[in-house]
Amino acid sequence: MIKAHKIRLHPTAEQVVYFAKAAGTARFVWNWALAEWNRQYEAGEKPTALKLKKQFNEIRREHFPWTWEVTKNASDQPFLDLGKAFTAFFAGRAHRPRFKSKKRSKPSFYLANDQLELGDHRLWIPKLGWVNMAEKLRFTGKVTGARITKSADWWFVSIQVEMPDAVAVKRPGAIGMDVGLNRLATLSTGEGVENQAFLKTALGKLRRANKRLHRRKLGSNNREKARREVARLHYRITCMRDDVLHKLTTRLANCYGMIGIEDLNIKGLIKNRRVSRAFSDAALGKLFSLLDSKVTQRGGQVVKVGRFFPSSKTCHCCGWKWETMTLGDRVFRCQNAVCPYYQFPQDRDQNAGQNILREALHVIGLIDQVVTGIGSDEDVNLPADAG
Ligand SMILES: [Zn+2]
Repeated sequence: MIKAHKIRLHPTAEQVVYFAKAAGTARFVWNWALAEWNRQYEAGEKPTALKLKKQFNEIRREHFPWTWEVTKNASDQPFLDLGKAFTAFFAGRAHRPRFKSKKRSKPSFYLANDQLELGDHRLWIPKLGWVNMAEKLRFTGKVTGARITKSADWWFVSIQVEMPDAVAVKRPGAIGMDVGLNRLATLSTGEGVENQAFLKTALGKLRRANKRLHRRKLGSNNREKARREVARLHYRITCMRDDVLHKLTTRLANCYGMIGIEDLNIKGLIKNRRVSRAFSDAALGKLFSLLDSKVTQRGGQVVKVGRFFPSSKTCHCCGWKWETMTLGDRVFRCQNAVCPYYQFPQDRDQNAGQNILREALHVIGLIDQVVTGIGSDEDVNLPADAG
């Protein structure tokens, strides 16, 4: 299992110059290789990453001697990356590789494991020396490589470490989760995680910063300063959001072996202009993908419940349906006189979470009926060999 730890760097002014130069070299080589690939492809030849690299090295001394000023990986790796990108493209897994832009692309370059050395809180880079790291590497294992990137105004190193696979011990508990915009997640146990809507909270600040940016003269120092301010704000919002998502998903994955969720059409929801910002702000797609990878890693499973399953308007206990329920109804009252929950005020989202849990257990064949008729507020415990 390969894990990555992303660490903020504290480079000196000279080191920042080196980083920018190495990232610029990597971008130049990528663009050179892509242009050459396209040209050869159109001419009916069969370009490969290795052939292109050889071709580049033949003219390098004469035309691009400055590419030797930084680590050799800055001019090696783009060929391998491009080869991989084309393989993914031809297999239909990715878009066609595009040219990297100085303005829009994220500056970055790669370091293979023989091109870096790690000390306590520092990182050694060829032709540069030691660079200070904000914290030390969290994982112990074989370092397979690293990538240096710039986000907002800061430089980071993401170090890949190969670690022995953890022994997957499936957690016995099962839980259902209802997601939404009012409350980010409501568990079938009744616990709720509020949607902190970081973007919405910061929107005023962001708008002011953007206005300032557009009042500044193009190409001026003040415009650059304003641009960095906007980038830092965006970066901070992403960090706060990721923090919430990581903490929630790690906790759930550590406690439950089966988690039922709704199969939401997130792309479709983001296209809806009225709620698109709120949905991107909640980052439900990221929530689901983090949850899935963490639960799977621990030997559990995330079960998706059909998009059209009426999780909100069904009583989780008896199956009675409240057909006229609207989005504004926050409290569910079952109208089935023989149901133990008859007229009992249930939280809308918790009831939905319980329905999702039942349906998920039904999907994986652990219970026959969606609704058993006997309500239970407890977690459902799976038999040890289930799933
Ligand atoms: Zn009922």
